[in-house]
Amino acid sequence: MAREEFPMSTDAAETNQTFADLGLRDELLSSLNSLGYEEPTPIQAESIPHLIAGRDLLGQAATGTGKTAAFALPILDRLQPGNRGDEPSALILVPTRELAMQVSEAVHKYGKDLGARVVPIYGGQPISRQLQALRRGVDVVIATPGRAVDHIKRGTLPLDFIEMVVLDEADEMLDMGFAEDLDAILEATPESRQTVLFSATMPSKIEKLARRHLNDPVNIRIARQAAEPGSAPKVRQSAYVVPRSHKPAALGRILDVESPTAAIVFCRTRHEVDQLSETLNGRGYRAEALHGGMSQEARDRVMGRVRAGTAELLIATDVAARGLDIDQLTHVVNYDVPSAPEAYVHRIGRVGRAGREGVAITLAEPREHRLVENIQRVTGQKIAFEKVPTIADLRNRRMELTLATLRESLLDDDLDRYRTIVETLTDEFDLVEVALAAVKLAHEAVSGDEDETEIPEIAPRKDSGSYGDRDNRGKSGKSFKDGKSFRDGKGSKPSKDGKGSKGDSGERLSKGDAVRLYFPIGRSERIRPGDLVGAIAGETSLSGKDIGAIEITENFSLVEVPGRAVEEVIGAMKRTTIKGKKITPRRERF
Ligand code: AMP
Repeated sequence: MAREEFPMSTDAAETNQTFADLGLRDELLSSLNSLGYEEPTPIQAESIPHLIAGRDLLGQAATGTGKTAAFALPILDRLQPGNRGDEPSALILVPTRELAMQVSEAVHKYGKDLGARVVPIYGGQPISRQLQALRRGVDVVIATPGRAVDHIKRGTLPLDFIEMVVLDEADEMLDMGFAEDLDAILEATPESRQTVLFSATMPSKIEKLARRHLNDPVNIRIARQAAEPGSAPKVRQSAYVVPRSHKPAALGRILDVESPTAAIVFCRTRHEVDQLSETLNGRGYRAEALHGGMSQEARDRVMGRVRAGTAELLIATDVAARGLDIDQLTHVVNYDVPSAPEAYVHRIGRVGRAGREGVAITLAEPREHRLVENIQRVTGQKIAFEKVPTIADLRNRRMELTLATLRESLLDDDLDRYRTIVETLTDEFDLVEVALAAVKLAHEAVSGDEDETEIPEIAPRKDSGSYGDRDNRGKSGKSFKDGKSFRDGKGSKPSKDGKGSKGDSGERLSKGDAVRLYFPIGRSERIRPGDLVGAIAGETSLSGKDIGAIEITENFSLVEVPGRAVEEVIGAMKRTTIKGKKITPRRERF
């Protein structure tokens, strides 16, 4: 298989290419503009021209790189205007139902001005609804492999007019045991089709899959080589894993603890810039927005306020902040993980100049860990995962600030004119009490309102320096990870909330062997550990004692099985039902 190499270079991240330069049609440019996207991400800049030219493509890209638009835009670009017939011209295969919905929303929003008809089909949704949607006419189908095969067998997913097939997160699909399904689906599509494969990792089984189904693909990989020693700026770098919905609160708390003199906060889109600056202003920060949708005059005014120190936070897109030099900058914040390591290096280069200490803070969503790891690998610099400061940390910090402010005032200010107040009050109260009341007022003036938002703790994973997605998994996830809920042969009891480990005597499943499988069924469907053990032990070669800890939450369950049996369990579950439902487990995602 002949391959071209297009390694992403630093230049690729800074070519200042626009979406128009990539040759996309006007309707797409207008949707991208209204979504607030200012420029293509590197994976988009590299992939889109090849895809528009009709090449097959093998791309290494993780969540957060902008890979969805990289394949969705070329699909949409070739939709015929007007009456297009009812059969789909593109098929996107994804590993999970959540991703099917997410990709479907993305394709829908990019293709709005083209009237693109998009249908997601996945297991768990009544097939009749999907049949109706397919019958109404469709341009792009986004499907999980199992459900796609069901439809193909029923003759309800017409593939004769498919021009492009995308395998998204192909490594996940193979890990979930979909290899045969993928082969069958690809075999059922026209040979003349264009095929695109995106995968976060490139193990040999992905290369084999590509060799079987891709025709002379362009090969796009993100930079792997470490940077020259010393080429990256010396900056204290940390990352916080925060679910999207908690990002504004987490950022506020981190800023409070860090107390930057001036910070620049980078966002992906104009909308995000506008929203975040509004939120932060609402929380009492002096934040200014800067993005490509603003006039030059408005931008100059913003920069004037930042340079004069009237604004402490500049919330900006990469494009708008390009070329800006702000002397007093102490902190760079990545509100989202940058889509490529080069953009990260470029951003953090704005602090830590001329021997001053700079700080770079990155907020990562639970699924974006690969991006952070890749940045560490490419820059050769450590990014320390930190816990979002707790309410108690924040209170301590505010007390410290009040103490420092009072000490400064005691040393510098002329306090004599307040003497009468103190002397009048000491006739009635104890001197310490008077001081306490004054400190309280000073503290409230310095600290403002107390922030009581609960931010779920998503701890860095000890084994890899990475972290687990505890976003919606409740507190029991913690004991699960630290090994306490592994079976210990002593018959551990389920915890009060029913999330505890399965308890019976048996060999301990060693931590290194254990793989956690995610079952999309939980307490809301009255699932009990015995149901899961029964299904697994009944359908596979595993016995009850081979199965490790089981954690059951409201909507899903996590079951530990030996690594060697992962494919077997996934395959077996596809052939059976639990509580009358077809449940396809998958490896737990981090
Ligand atoms: P993905 O890697 O496809 O999951 O995309 C990650 C996020 O980046 C999504 O929220 C997209 O909406 C956003 N995104 C993708 N491309 C761009 C772009 N060129 N500019 C700004 N945001 C983008």
